[in-house]
Amino acid sequence: MSDANCIFCRIVAGEIPATVVARNEHALAFRDLHPQAPSHLLVIPVRHVDSLASADNTAELGAVLSLAAEVARAEGLAEAGYRVVTNIGGDGGQTVQHLHFHVLGGRQMHWPPG
Ligand code: IMP
Repeated sequence: MSDANCIFCRIVAGEIPATVVARNEHALAFRDLHPQAPSHLLVIPVRHVDSLASADNTAELGAVLSLAAEVARAEGLAEAGYRVVTNIGGDGGQTVQHLHFHVLGGRQMHWPPG
């Protein structure tokens, strides 16, 4: 349910400060500590899930992705466009082992990402 050694579980628990912008029953959205775009939010399941590779609860995933779209609208990104991305494992560039979707916007995104 929660991992005491996981930094994002500790944010959910309020043990580590974060700029929380929205939440719903299953998900929490907060600002990335090292923003890579004018708007850079992270949207996570409240419950500990290592990555998308081990996500198995469709209701939970739906709530996380709904919140991603909601915070993008609240940030004023919907009209110009934005990017939602999740990194999985070492080659995917995942550095925090708690499922999170990056919501990036406020500038032109490039493709392919590095
Ligand atoms: P990943 O590399 O896809 O796993 O993304 C992890 C993200 O978490 C990075 O963009 C980090 O800047 C961000 N991050 C790490 N620690 C914190 C924190 O304590 N608060 C907010 N964002 C964090």
